[in-house]
Amino acid sequence: MKIWIDAGHGGTDSGAYAGGVAEKEVTLSICLYLEARLEQAGMTVEMTRRTDVYESVMARAAMANDWNGDLFVSVHANAAQSTAATGTEVLSYDLDGASGRLAADIVQAIASQLGLKNRGVKVRRDLAVINATNMPAVLVETAFLTNASDRALLTGQPKAFADAIAAGIFQYLGWEEPEMEKRYQTLAQIPTWAQLTIEKLLARDVFADDNQLDLSLDMVRMFVLLDRYGVLQVPPLSATAQAKAAMEEAQAAYEKAKAAWELLQEAK
Ligand SMILES: [Zn+2]
Repeated sequence: MKIWIDAGHGGTDSGAYAGGVAEKEVTLSICLYLEARLEQAGMTVEMTRRTDVYESVMARAAMANDWNGDLFVSVHANAAQSTAATGTEVLSYDLDGASGRLAADIVQAIASQLGLKNRGVKVRRDLAVINATNMPAVLVETAFLTNASDRALLTGQPKAFADAIAAGIFQYLGWEEPEMEKRYQTLAQIPTWAQLTIEKLLARDVFADDNQLDLSLDMVRMFVLLDRYGVLQVPPLSATAQAKAAMEEAQAAYEKAKAAWELLQEAK
């Protein structure tokens, strides 16, 4: 699968500008994360630009055509007169064709993963990157640069936008991430056969953040194997955990004594 990623604007063309942020910067940032994400998934990626340079829209379409890309994804940020305008939308040559389906999957993924208003798929036939490309092509208007909270998302979470766009592409392709490449972040995500082992490690404060375990399937398997053969040496409870356990014990003893005292008072 060959995917052309087109970071909107660049060089002398800043694109929209609001709140001290140029569109060309956020589009490049998102696209560099998107490139990494798609390559990690085994896809072949080429890009219009990886630096701050200008390319015309016709050149962008021609480059992707020469490369024989299977999909073309252009990434932009939206702008409006009203700073209240918010949300994500994807521009496509059609609604029901391949481009329209790709657009629908991407806009849905961004809206749900970033918590943005879903403005849907909009048909546009006047844009060169959409009408001069020979492959299914979409233009993603990630969010509004002119809206303060949208802009904070664009500058603060470019990777989340990239992950969402990638998720939309995967959805369109019907592609599922192989189990081997998954990363488990929480106990709930750990396969059931490994939960007891990971629970033991969690109880001993082995992980810096219990909600960001970042374990691969290989790592999970290794922990289970070590646990099964009794090799898994977990460090003693941390000082904090020890103090917490002691407090809970004292609290329980107090409740017990209180109940006994109350019983005694009643008996009198
Ligand atoms: Zn733009």
